[in-house]
Amino acid sequence: MALIVLWDIDHTLIENAGVSKEIYGAAFEAVAGCQPSAPAVTEGRTDRLIMQEMFDRNRLVQPKWHTVQAALETAGCERFEALRQRGRALPGARDALIALGKEPAVISSVLTGNIEANARLKLAAFGLDGLVDLEVGAYGSDHRDRAALVGVARDRVYAAYGVPARAPVVLVGDTPRDVEAALTSGAQIVAVATGLHSTADLRAAGASVVLPDLADTASLLARLKGLAGCD
Ligand SMILES: [Mg+2]
Repeated sequence: MALIVLWDIDHTLIENAGVSKEIYGAAFEAVAGCQPSAPAVTEGRTDRLIMQEMFDRNRLVQPKWHTVQAALETAGCERFEALRQRGRALPGARDALIALGKEPAVISSVLTGNIEANARLKLAAFGLDGLVDLEVGAYGSDHRDRAALVGVARDRVYAAYGVPARAPVVLVGDTPRDVEAALTSGAQIVAVATGLHSTADLRAAGASVVLPDLADTASLLARLKGLAGCD
């Protein structure tokens, strides 16, 4: 049976070293014409939600999404080099993606709060973009609600591969919002404690599998397959 694995990006596959928050700040300033009163609050939120909350906190009228998205794309492009220099792929991320890519029954893509352009840019900064099928991923540009992105990815996988709707989906992510997105959408979750959230936080959110990081490729693969009933 096919297994769909959907990776979160920030603090799961890569460390952005603060560049992400700079992108939100710059995009806000470009659209609003002033600096935000406080940095963006992220932690598993989608870009649509992050930017909406920034405008709400600053008591500004919500701009059209396409304007915000264009500003996020520009801000991302302008910081590609900064991301490449300051950020890094997290330990084991590359090997995990390569190993999954060798599994014929596994479709490996992303489920991320980033808009698609910035998701591609963040992975490309560390040479990871060619290791997943980004055409069938789900992005923060697709929906404000992270859990709704599971259905978006399922539809794209079905259209591209003909994989049935009941095929198991496992998310890999670092925040309680990743866990919630899986649990409320019928997906499974492998949580990794490489972000702000501890193993205890992630377990409390409902994750039955929590790994300290992605460093042990064999163990990760076994957990993914085990959760999906493919072992
Ligand atoms: Mg994350």
